[in-house]
Amino acid sequence: MLDVALCLTLDHDLRLVFLAAIVCATGSWITFRLFRRGLDEKGLFALGWHFLAATAAGSSIWTTHFISMLAYEIKAPVVFDPVLTIVSLLIAICGSFIAFSLTSVMGRFSFIAGGIVLGFSAAAMHYVGMWGYHISGVVSWDMGYVAASVGISVFAASAAIYIVTNTAGQWRIAQSAGVFLCGIVGLHFTGMTALHVAALLMPAGGEHSDSYLAMALSVALGCFVMAGAGLTSFLIENRTRQDSFRKLHTLAFYDTLTGLANRPNLQARLDEMCQAEGETKREFAFIGMDLDKFKEINDLHGHQAGDLVLQAIGDRLKALQNASIHFARLGGDEFAAIMEISDESALLKKMMEIKQSLTQPIKLDTLQQVSTGVSLGAARYPFDAEEPQELVNRADLAMYRAKHDPLTSICFYDAAMDEVVRRRKALTADLRQAIAHDELELHYQVQTTVATGAISGFEVLLRWKHPERGYIPPSEFIPLAEASGFIMELGLWVLKTACRQAAQWPNLHKIAVNLSPMQLADPFLPERVQESLAESGLAASRLELELTESAVVENRERTLDLLSRIKALGVTIALDDFGTGYSSLETLRSFPFDKIKLDRSFMHEIEDSAESRAIVRAVLALGRSLNVPVLAEGVETRHQLDILNSEGCDAAQGYFLGRPTPIARLLESFHVAADASSIDFDVAILQSVGMTLRGSNARRESNAATINARQRGAQS
Ligand code: C2E
Ligand code: CA
Ligand code: CA
Repeated sequence: MLDVALCLTLDHDLRLVFLAAIVCATGSWITFRLFRRGLDEKGLFALGWHFLAATAAGSSIWTTHFISMLAYEIKAPVVFDPVLTIVSLLIAICGSFIAFSLTSVMGRFSFIAGGIVLGFSAAAMHYVGMWGYHISGVVSWDMGYVAASVGISVFAASAAIYIVTNTAGQWRIAQSAGVFLCGIVGLHFTGMTALHVAALLMPAGGEHSDSYLAMALSVALGCFVMAGAGLTSFLIENRTRQDSFRKLHTLAFYDTLTGLANRPNLQARLDEMCQAEGETKREFAFIGMDLDKFKEINDLHGHQAGDLVLQAIGDRLKALQNASIHFARLGGDEFAAIMEISDESALLKKMMEIKQSLTQPIKLDTLQQVSTGVSLGAARYPFDAEEPQELVNRADLAMYRAKHDPLTSICFYDAAMDEVVRRRKALTADLRQAIAHDELELHYQVQTTVATGAISGFEVLLRWKHPERGYIPPSEFIPLAEASGFIMELGLWVLKTACRQAAQWPNLHKIAVNLSPMQLADPFLPERVQESLAESGLAASRLELELTESAVVENRERTLDLLSRIKALGVTIALDDFGTGYSSLETLRSFPFDKIKLDRSFMHEIEDSAESRAIVRAVLALGRSLNVPVLAEGVETRHQLDILNSEGCDAAQGYFLGRPTPIARLLESFHVAADASSIDFDVAILQSVGMTLRGSNARRESNAATINARQRGAQS
């Protein structure tokens, strides 16, 4: 130990020793960083990194050796062999490469195998280097020190490899580099202590110059190779890191189908904009967009067509994107945007532009094209909400409104909408109690044969009298029941109650019960209908079920099968609200409906619009050709009824013929009619439910007056 210290301090130029230590420390750090990197890879990539690490290791051991040799103040002339010098470098590089590769493929004790190979290679490099270092003098070696130097080298190499492979922590590279540095320095100076030179000639100044120049060049070369390995690794790392970062970034923040930003991306932008302070704070709008009819495109043309449509929509949105507006696909057919706004008119203009662009037809192939509608809802920051989630919810609310408003497909949030949601929630909860609390009632609206004025049946219409809010129209609560799933229970209650009530009537008039599309999703509907009939004792022929075309379109095959099973019971089926939705001939052809109910919207215009009249005429012709009777809904005036009569319409329903009537009043009129046996039964009922019968004669009218008078008497 003392000998080594003496050798180091007396025989060496300490400044150069210090330089050697710095070069060795840097080289070791580069080496173990590269080696660690290689351990994370597999196969050829791992070998590539190990090669770089070996190059760095070999060149740093080698360079350290030669700087130290420059520091060695020898008193004899020196020449050194270029071949052996190069060979020593190759030994260091190849040995390190084998050591690193061994370590990465072997198991738990690989650090020992790796350490032995690395340690021996370093020692071999040292002694081959010394072998090529020809000194003019008598050279002898102390084999004890030689062995010690090899031992130090192997021990340090094993420890360094152990640290870098088996420990965690951010300092492990530095630690292993430090241990390796000690090993190399220890190897060198213990090896130099083993060397004894007895000079034969005193060196004259400058005699070393050639050798020293060669050494200096070698050192420069060594540093260059080492730095090269480090730099190459840095470049590769950086490139790989950038590539993978780019890939990960794309995957994490963009929608793969459309290439638009995805939900997390938009969310991040939204959060950032809501958190902005001072100069960066901006006013902006969150715009929610929902495609209309996308599900139909998917169902009708397949998912591939659906994807095509989404891509086309994505492209169109990208074309509208600029510094102030960013679009994203949130999932499914839902899109959104964040737009910086200076004024509201700019926002509206942009939303109209979006709508205009998205509603253009989309080509599926050379023959087919489809078009979708879009509903847009916007909420503004900070006027409408200051919290990101609240802003999104409010834009959703506005979008929901836009989707359900027949007049517009663009909506801005306003505070009243929140109130609407609260009311909906509260009402839904109340509705679930309505049956138990006896708040529901059935009203009956008369249907008549146009040509004779005779009653052909009664449509059953549900009424809800809310204990606090009073009468709530079905147009408001039926959608709530549908949205909450309560419609199944409610619909069954209507069916059973109507059957039970009608079975008690003193006549055999038909009843028509409305079915929600959702009820048609119930595979046991035919059984439930049968059960309702059996329980009440109502003849199947007295029951008609009304359903809209949308209920059939939803799942055509299955629904038509279901309807056939119901029809087989003897129950008739009417197609409700015809002329409003799809109105496809396909639906009419695919099932033998017993009645077509022409939607009441046509009645408003039939009196003065030639177009409406033409439509009504066409529907009537269609009914005749299919041999299905047509009933016109919403007849409010005598004039409308006259037109229907002249056009040859089969049946009618409407305020002019009779308003929906509570069961108690209807029963009363039935009994009055039964009492007034001398008059036409139907006329009495019709009079009683509040209408003036077309073409009624004086006798009928006077009888009716008597009935009315009796009724008033009964009421008071
Ligand atoms: P709907 O099936 O088309 O029913 C006819 C609607 O037209 C009824 O409205 C009726 O009161 C109204 N109406 C009748 N004559 C006239 C008229 O001359 N002029 C005008 N302007 N309207 C007239 P109501 O009772 O408010 O029902 C609205 C809708 O609610 C119904 O439309 C039906 O879709 C649904 N609904 C009612 N009861 C039930 C039910 O028990 N189950 C289901 N699923 N839906 C029901
Ligand atoms: Ca109806
Ligand atoms: Ca209707």
